[in-house]
Amino acid sequence: MSKIAMTTPLVEMDGDEMTRIIWKYIKDELLIPFIDLKTEYYDLGLPHRNETDDKVTFDSAYATQKYGVAVKCATITPNAARVEEYNLKEMWKSPNGTIRAILDGTVFRAPIIVKGIEPCVKNWKAPITIARHAYGDVYKASEMKIPGAGKVELVYTAEDGTTESVLVHEFKSAGIVQGMHNLNPSIESFARSCFNYALDTKQSLWFATKDTISKKYDHTFKDIFQEIFDAEYKEKFDAAGIEYFYTLIDDAVARVMKSKGGFIWACKNYDGDVMSDMLSSAFGSLAMMTSVLVSPSGVYEYEAAHGTVQRHYYKHLAGEETSTNPVATIFAWTGALRKRGELDGNKELMEFADKLEKATIATIESGKMTKDLALITELPDVTVLNTENFIKAIRTTLTEM
Ligand code: NAP
Ligand code: MG
Repeated sequence: MSKIAMTTPLVEMDGDEMTRIIWKYIKDELLIPFIDLKTEYYDLGLPHRNETDDKVTFDSAYATQKYGVAVKCATITPNAARVEEYNLKEMWKSPNGTIRAILDGTVFRAPIIVKGIEPCVKNWKAPITIARHAYGDVYKASEMKIPGAGKVELVYTAEDGTTESVLVHEFKSAGIVQGMHNLNPSIESFARSCFNYALDTKQSLWFATKDTISKKYDHTFKDIFQEIFDAEYKEKFDAAGIEYFYTLIDDAVARVMKSKGGFIWACKNYDGDVMSDMLSSAFGSLAMMTSVLVSPSGVYEYEAAHGTVQRHYYKHLAGEETSTNPVATIFAWTGALRKRGELDGNKELMEFADKLEKATIATIESGKMTKDLALITELPDVTVLNTENFIKAIRTTLTEM
C-alpha cells in the first residue's frame, strides 16, 4: 500500500510525561504506516525547554505562524516542585500561555461523542463547543483589601495628563475591591476567531454576557461582536445557513440545558473557564475533549484538553501497566491533518483524518476501551485495554475499514 503524501509540513510540538509516551505510540501505529508524515519537529518536553532557555517554545509558535497548522502534545507548566524535579534553571512560563500570546487566539473545546458514553444531559445529541476568550478580565485584575472606612475611586490618566474618575464605593467598614480590564483589539480578535470558526465548522454561534448589569464593560463585548458581525459576517452566515445570536448569560445557560447541542458557545474568560469544565464532565470525560487554538489570522494549533497525566506516568516509570486514554491526542492529530489537507487541497489526507476518527470511535463502540471510559460506559461486554493495546486495536479497526 502506498503512503499518503504531504506537501507542507505540520508543526509538531512534542511534550511531557505520559502524553509524550502516547505521542510516540500514535505516530508509530496510526500515522507513519499510512502517511508519508512531514513535520517540522519541536521538542517542547521540559528538559529541552530548559536546555534552550525556552527558546524552543517561541520558535515553535513562530513556525506555526509560518506554516499555519500545528499539533501539540500536553506539556508540564513548571511549579516549585517541577523546578526541583527537573533541576530547572528557571520556573519557565506555561508553553500554552507563550504560544497563545504570540498567536493571539481563542481556544475552542469540544467533546468527542461516542455511543455508550452518554451525556448526563439526555437531550444533548451533538457536541457543544466552548469558545473561551483567553485574555483579561479577572485573570489580569488588580485587587485590594480595604481595611476600614474610606473612599475607593477608579482613575484614568490620559497620556496628556487629563484625568477621569468614577466612585467605586464609599466604604463604611472593611471590604474588598477589584479592578479589571480588557482591550478592544483583543475582543475584536476573539469575535473574528469565533465567527471564522463557526463558518469553518458550519455551526451557529451563541454569545452571552451580563450586559444588563455591566452596562459598559460587558456591553462593549456585545457591541463589538454585533458591529463585526453586521459589517463582515452576516452575509457569509446567511449563505452557510447558520446564525449568530446574542443573549444574556443566564438565559444562555438555561437554553444550553434544553438544547440538542451542535453549536458554538462563546464565553468571556471566566465564564469559559467554568463552563468548559461543566460541559466536559457532563459529556463524559476530560480525556474525550479536543482543544484548538484559532488565531484571528487563521492559524490553527490542535491539542488535547487534558494535561500530561503525571500520576499514570509515575506508574509507567515504576513498570506498572497503565490505561491512559489517547483519544484526545489522536483527535489533535486528526484535526491538524484534516486542516493541513484542507489548506493544501489534499483530499486523501482529509479522508484519512476522518477515517482514523471513525476507527477510534468504532473501536470504543465495539467495547474495547481504556479504564477511564470503562468506568462510565453503559455498554455491555467491555474489554479494558492498556494504552498500547488500545492503540493497536484502533489500528486493526482502521486497516479493516
Ligand atoms: P491531567 O494531566 O489532566 O490529569 C488529571 C487526572 O485526570 C489524571 O490523574 C487522570 O485521573 C485524569 N486524566 C486526564 N487525562 C487522562 C487521560 N488521557 N486518560 C485517563 N485519565 C486521564 O492534569 P494534572 O495531573 O493536574 O497535570 C499534570 C501536568 O499536566 C501538570 O504538570 C500540568 O502543568 C500539565 N497540564 C498541561 C496542559 C496542557 O499542556 N495543555 C493542560 C493541563 C495540565 P486518574 O489519575 O484518576 O486516573
Ligand atoms: Mg478550569
